[in-house]
Amino acid sequence: MSGMVIIGAGHAAGQAAASLRQAKYEGPITIIGDELHVPYQRPPLSKQYLSGEQHIDRVYLRPASFYTDKDVTLKLGTTATAIDRDSKSVTLDTGETLAYDKLLISTGSRARKLNIDGSDLPGIHYLRTIADVDAIRAEMASDRNLVIVGGGYIGLEVASVGVEKGLNVHVLEMESRILQRVTTPEMSAYYHQLHTSRGVNIHTDTTVSGFSGDGQVSKVLCGDTEFDADLVIVGIGIIPNVELAQDAGLEVDNGIVVDDHCRTSDPDIYAAGDCSNHPNPLLNRRLRLESVPNAMEQARVSVENMLGGDKIYAAIPWFWSDQYELKLQMVGFSADGSSQVVRGEMAENHFAVFYLHDGKVVAADAVNSPKEFMVCKQLIGKTVDQALLADSASDLKDLLASAK
Ligand SMILES: Cc1cc2nc3c(=O)[nH]c(=O)nc-3n(C[C@H](O)[C@H](O)[C@H](O)COP(=O)(O)OP(=O)(O)OC[C@H]3O[C@@H](n4cnc5c(N)ncnc54)[C@H](O)[C@@H]3O)c2cc1C
Repeated sequence: MSGMVIIGAGHAAGQAAASLRQAKYEGPITIIGDELHVPYQRPPLSKQYLSGEQHIDRVYLRPASFYTDKDVTLKLGTTATAIDRDSKSVTLDTGETLAYDKLLISTGSRARKLNIDGSDLPGIHYLRTIADVDAIRAEMASDRNLVIVGGGYIGLEVASVGVEKGLNVHVLEMESRILQRVTTPEMSAYYHQLHTSRGVNIHTDTTVSGFSGDGQVSKVLCGDTEFDADLVIVGIGIIPNVELAQDAGLEVDNGIVVDDHCRTSDPDIYAAGDCSNHPNPLLNRRLRLESVPNAMEQARVSVENMLGGDKIYAAIPWFWSDQYELKLQMVGFSADGSSQVVRGEMAENHFAVFYLHDGKVVAADAVNSPKEFMVCKQLIGKTVDQALLADSASDLKDLLASAK
């Protein structure tokens, strides 16, 4: 008997297996994952798991017993090496072949690597998996010199953990501001100031040209400048894992191309999570997102359609980042706004920036303001009274009620 086969054992896979059983699917479910762990959450890897606050059991999406209880077969430490669409089967590196009725590809993404002088020296790390963090944690002793390459969310989250653990932290960013790719100049300036005030040294317009060290990294080289390093963490983005899909002849273009039902160019194969490129009917554009809400929701939509449903994936993207005691929650794309309204006090680390276009709310960044964030999710696409929006004494419920 065939059944449902899921390639990749990450966020999307874990959610898909649970959703299949919730939907009363009774056939076989097999998850193939090349890591040794049951599906787990990656966000804590640069936050509470890195700092040691969170035990590994709480990093797992669900305990191992869940898969036994729900009769889900996990093939861990196993790589899917080929998809044969004619025979509807997947080949594994064990030599085994698995037949599928429907296949979900949720292969996620991998860390983008540096390929420069010395980049293979011990002490240079990437941060994508539990194994990566276990290796980093073993080297994160106080007073050591930690150099972070890349001032994106992962790099900055690591910086906050590092400086709180007493390391000397330097962040090297090649662009003229941190978070350049993902946020506004105002939010970049806010986070720059925040990190500097906590003791992190941020160097913008700084491109790494190589590493040196005798059997272990000891210096990061940036042209004529060099930084002492006992430990380097590189966070310069990811590459979607699309090769398996590409080799099987599926359409790939910055991710595995799916339709609004999360279906690939083969009607029996779906793709969800970081590896997929989907159309967003609310924003009228195609997106490849790297976020947990996207992986979870695409998995749910895929499952519904794999079981014969007719569900469209349509959601405004949202994301979060934890740095120090600050929780940043973002919805929509701030770059879509042509004006902004600040509610609350940036200086007190308690505020929300609403982005508007043609008088309508298109996005928001909320720092330590979960209520504003929840309201903003409902305000997207609506026209609001901007004076009321800016007045933090005004009632959020009134604001929502008056939005059109
Ligand atoms: C350090 C870090 C912090 C993050 N923080 C946040 C955050 O705060 N908020 C947020 O929304 N998102 C965050 N993200 C992003 C989020 O974790 C990802 O978007 C999410 O994990 C994507 O889920 P996925 O199921 O698509 O892929 P993944 O979770 O990457 O899982 C894919 C799995 O498939 C495996 N695989 C690939 N190819 C094969 C193959 N051929 N055979 C078998 N297995 C294979 C991979 O090794 C991997 O284990 C963070 C990511 C990282 C790395």
